[in-house]
Amino acid sequence: MTVETTSIDTLVVGAGQAGVAMSEHLSKIGVPHLVLERARIAEAWRTGRWDSLVANGPAWHDRFPNLDFADFDPNGFASKEQVAEYFVQYAQKFDAPIRTGVEVTKVVRNVGRPGFTVDTSEGTIEANRVVVATGPFQRPVIPPVAPKSATLTQIHSADYRNPQQLPEGGVLVVGAGSSGVQIADELQRSGRRVYLSVGAHDRPPRGYRGRDFCWWLGVLGEWDAEVMKPGREHVTIAVSGARGGHTVDFRRLAHQGITLVGLTKSFDEGVAKFEADLADNIRRGDENYLSLLDAADAYAARNGLELPEEPEARFIPADPDCMTHPLLELDLAQAGVTSIIWATGYAVDFNWLKVDAFDDTGKPKHQRGVAKEPGIYFLGLPWLSRRGSAFIWGVWHDAKHIADHIATQRKYLAYYDAPRRHIEETRVECVEGTPAESRVHSVSEMGVN
Ligand SMILES: Cc1cc2nc3c(=O)[nH]c(=O)nc-3n(C[C@H](O)[C@H](O)[C@H](O)COP(=O)(O)OP(=O)(O)OC[C@H]3O[C@@H](n4cnc5c(N)ncnc54)[C@H](O)[C@@H]3O)c2cc1C
Repeated sequence: MTVETTSIDTLVVGAGQAGVAMSEHLSKIGVPHLVLERARIAEAWRTGRWDSLVANGPAWHDRFPNLDFADFDPNGFASKEQVAEYFVQYAQKFDAPIRTGVEVTKVVRNVGRPGFTVDTSEGTIEANRVVVATGPFQRPVIPPVAPKSATLTQIHSADYRNPQQLPEGGVLVVGAGSSGVQIADELQRSGRRVYLSVGAHDRPPRGYRGRDFCWWLGVLGEWDAEVMKPGREHVTIAVSGARGGHTVDFRRLAHQGITLVGLTKSFDEGVAKFEADLADNIRRGDENYLSLLDAADAYAARNGLELPEEPEARFIPADPDCMTHPLLELDLAQAGVTSIIWATGYAVDFNWLKVDAFDDTGKPKHQRGVAKEPGIYFLGLPWLSRRGSAFIWGVWHDAKHIADHIATQRKYLAYYDAPRRHIEETRVECVEGTPAESRVHSVSEMGVN
């Protein structure tokens, strides 16, 4: 497909949920824009995740405000395909100007004139503004401790699809956030011997006193938290909507047959070495779990909510053997481990964005998505403005803020244009006797706004 448009007010890069939300808000306020997507709408949900993945939040919550999941139990957990379809339908609802199959390969600021020159796989575009909506999770990260072994199959969770994809044998899953715990659980249930390396984590209850944890985090203001608590940068959140949704409980996973180990430290001649921190990590996860129950109880009492009591939620099962006698070393071959799955997170990749919008460490520098480089915006990054920023319900609100910022800029620049236009018109009429309209037309075409 050829990119026929050669200039546009605002170019949005990426048509995941962030790009779709951005397009909706820009459409609402009448900003001419174009969304370029290198693959398909919501591609990450279609091909960037494992087959059995469902949303972590119930359908009433993990959605945009203006559309429900059609014919779907609001308390159910949509499959990844249903989530992708939802965004396609959402984009259709307001006829979003999205072109798929077009990759943006370079963005540079123009010199001596406004805006940016954008190289794409289908040609060049001029844009006054660029919204970068290329996702919070772009480049899978495997830590440098990964062994160099020809006999082991090693993949990142981004490349995991199903148990059949792995060679026969046991699996070490490194990382116990939402992806790691769900993958380990699926592998164990498929009959595999599984070792799960557990670091620092939060593990909210799936539900408490008749309300899903998404509801509790909402009413307690946690999704709107603007800054991460200090020292929590590497704390994952272990939640799951799989099999109708359940609380992630590491002790239960152990009693079910998964061998839990501490943080993966190193590999030495086929022997994996783990930190002796498993019990501490699990206990801190319990503290997080119980603190949410406390906060929920306090909220219910403060507001006189008559929600059913649930004292059994405070029951913590007995410590499993792998917690009381932690495994600090594992000879992978002896244990029959043939695969390692690295559920160790992602990084962003902005190599194509040749603008002054980054700090010395290469991190985007912005305020609620408004980049240090005027005219550049970031959307969908973790903690862009709040805890919910990288999630479905959060990105929609951040997109609104960015659209408002763009509208304000356009207003200022329209004001700037008015006296300029008057001067231009007067000059054209007085000096050359040229009809004023022709000059006005060329001024606005310059895209000075
Ligand atoms: C396993 C997993 C499960 C998750 N589950 C949930 C959940 O249940 N609920 C929830 O709220 N959040 C969930 N998230 C978090 C978040 O909602 C998703 O990561 C979501 O996909 C982010 O949307 P996005 O639009 O910001 O980015 P993406 O979905 O990654 O979309 C970015 C788009 O940009 C395109 N793109 C990238 N570079 C270019 C380029 N140069 N030119 C053109 N196009 C480009 C990509 O093809 C992609 O389609 C989950 C994340 C993961 C990893």
